[in-house]
Order: sequence, then C-alpha cells, then structure tokens
Amino acid sequence: QIRPLVAGNWKMNGLRAALSEVEALASTHPSPACDVLLCPPATLIGAMVDAAQGSPIQVGGQDCHAAQSGAHTGDIAAEMIADAGGTAVIVGHSERRADHAEDDAMVKAKAEAALRAGLLAVVCVGETEADRDAGRTLDVVLGQLAGSLPDGASAENTVIAYEPVWAIGTGRVPQISDIAQVHDALRGALTDRLSDGASVRLLYGGSVKPSNAAEIFAVENVNGGLVGGASLKAADFGGIIAVT
Ligand code: 13P
Repeated sequence: QIRPLVAGNWKMNGLRAALSEVEALASTHPSPACDVLLCPPATLIGAMVDAAQGSPIQVGGQDCHAAQSGAHTGDIAAEMIADAGGTAVIVGHSERRADHAEDDAMVKAKAEAALRAGLLAVVCVGETEADRDAGRTLDVVLGQLAGSLPDGASAENTVIAYEPVWAIGTGRVPQISDIAQVHDALRGALTDRLSDGASVRLLYGGSVKPSNAAEIFAVENVNGGLVGGASLKAADFGGIIAVT
C-alpha cells in the first residue's frame, strides 16, 4: 500500500502573513492519512519550516538550479532549499517549462540536483490542450517522463506529478477515465525503468479541489495530488488532505 502525498504549490503567492494558514492546517490536521508537503515561494521556505515545526507538514521549493553554487543570479540551489529546512523540490512544472524554456534535459539535471541534495524530487509532466486534441497525450507525457526522470530515481526519492497544462487554474479536469489512462501508462513506464517503479507515487494536478479530490484520488495509480490554488487556504487544502 502506497502512502499518498498531497502537495501544495503556492506558486508566486504568499507573504509572511500567509504563514497563519500553515499554523491553521497544522492544528486542524495533526495526523493526516497522507504525507503533506507545501511549496511556498523561496522567500518563505525558512519561515514556513519554522511555522510547521512539530507538525507533519513538510516544506519544499518550487524549482532549483542544477548546479550546487555559482554565478547564476536569481537562482537557488537544491542544497539551499535543504539548508533552509526544505525536504523536497518541484521540478519541471509546466509554468517553468513555458516561462523559462526548460526542456527535459534541464528538468532531469534539476531533479538530479534534488537527489544530490537529499531532497524529494517532484517531477512534473503534462500535455497541452493542443497535444490532447491531436491525440498526442501519451506520447508527450511518456516522452517527458523518459527525458526528465533523474538517474538514481527510486520510490523513496522521486515523485511524478501529472498535470495537464489545460487543467491548471482553469477549473477543468480531465475525465476520470483519461486520468486513469495516463497514470496507468506512467506506472507501466516506471515499472519498466525502475526496480521499485511500482511504488513510485504518481500525483494528479490541475484544478484539484475539496469537491473533486475524493473521486480523483480513488483512481488506481493516483497516489495523491499536486494542488495549486486550493493549497493557499488551510480550509481548502485541509479538505483535500482529509479525503485521502
Ligand atoms: P491549480 O490547482 O491551481 O489548477 O494548479 C495546479 C498546479 O499547477 C500545481 O502545481
């Protein structure tokens, strides 16, 4: 039995005042039935680690550079996230792939940096609406997985998040059967490639809310979720955690 993971991605949202949501989440969900991860902006990682102290809430970054240090203005290293008390980092989010032209090779290098720093790598894949309309969903998603999976990946250190780009922030969610098809395909690829691929957690992301999370999390090979907008408020995120 795989313990689910529910991860929140705050994206570019949150000032220090928002840390009250973390304290509220910690007090309302002291012993969740899933692992819980929150990924705030880098400016809040250290303060959120403090706010989550003594709770099961883990804190992570939203991106990292592949290198350990150096002349890379504005970037942060996986080691810096770990040093701030983070235990995970999202890599290859579609917003990074689109806004910063990150390709699979870069995402793979970032994921390997995460493993080097002892962080859990949350590797994101997902098709655009044009890909889906062209019937290319599985090709695209499996191609991204093949190109982005870090060397040394295992069920312990790597999580895959399937986020259809057209479902992010839109309120649109794929048919349950479509989620199942993609997750089954990802599972197959992982079991082919990794000795413990059957145990790697596969998260669904894209417009997950308290009202649809139970149905999505019940799908075979869905082992939790990666939540954007609904991770910002303890009431919403708690409602999602509660259905695992
Ligand atoms: P929403 O939950 O806001 O659709 O965002 C999903 C996402 O991109 C999480 O990484």
